[in-house]
Amino acid sequence: MELLKQRILQDGRCYPGGILKVDSFINHQMDPMLMYRIAEEFIKRFEGVKINKIVTIEASGIAPAIMVGFLMQLPVVFVKKKKPKTMENMLTTVVHSFTKDRDYTVCISNNFLTPDDHILFIDDFLAFGNAALGMLDLVKQSGCTLAGMGFIIEKAFQDGRKILEEQGARVESLAIVDDLSDCKIVVR
Ligand code: 5GP
Repeated sequence: MELLKQRILQDGRCYPGGILKVDSFINHQMDPMLMYRIAEEFIKRFEGVKINKIVTIEASGIAPAIMVGFLMQLPVVFVKKKKPKTMENMLTTVVHSFTKDRDYTVCISNNFLTPDDHILFIDDFLAFGNAALGMLDLVKQSGCTLAGMGFIIEKAFQDGRKILEEQGARVESLAIVDDLSDCKIVVR
């Protein structure tokens, strides 16, 4: 997606350890006009695929997911990083956080992820694929169908795509970053 690629090159910042900071338009301050175009592009990529629900993980996936859900007129569910005492029929899985370097238990209610659902998973970044693998586990536990996984930015040098495709997931990313070494952003 050319618009996104240009924005990453213009406003993205490189941090040691292969981290790309996009907090001026995605992760902290958000650009709703860009998010709208991102959502349109996701919808185009998954055209013709049976989807009845958008699923994401808090917090950064929520903005693109709600935009996709709004445009497709579909409900949006986010996987929670803290277990609420009141959640009914909770499904849980453990996810390793790349940016925080720790494991945490995430959860979703089986009431909102059921065998009848055909879900599109949306997230901001695909790095090593840990968050997405957690999602695949929740998909299995719930018995729902995964229609596909859409990421705003994929860091191709961290191999998340390979792991997800080996599990049979369809992966679409709107911008692919091939390299961040020497503090230079290389977008495919
Ligand atoms: P993964 O689970 O694929 O290893 O990492 C994906 C998650 O980690 C994303 O949801 C995102 O929040 C975070 N993440 C991974 N790499 C980056 C990065 O380079 N920049 C930012 N801002 N977040 C990242």
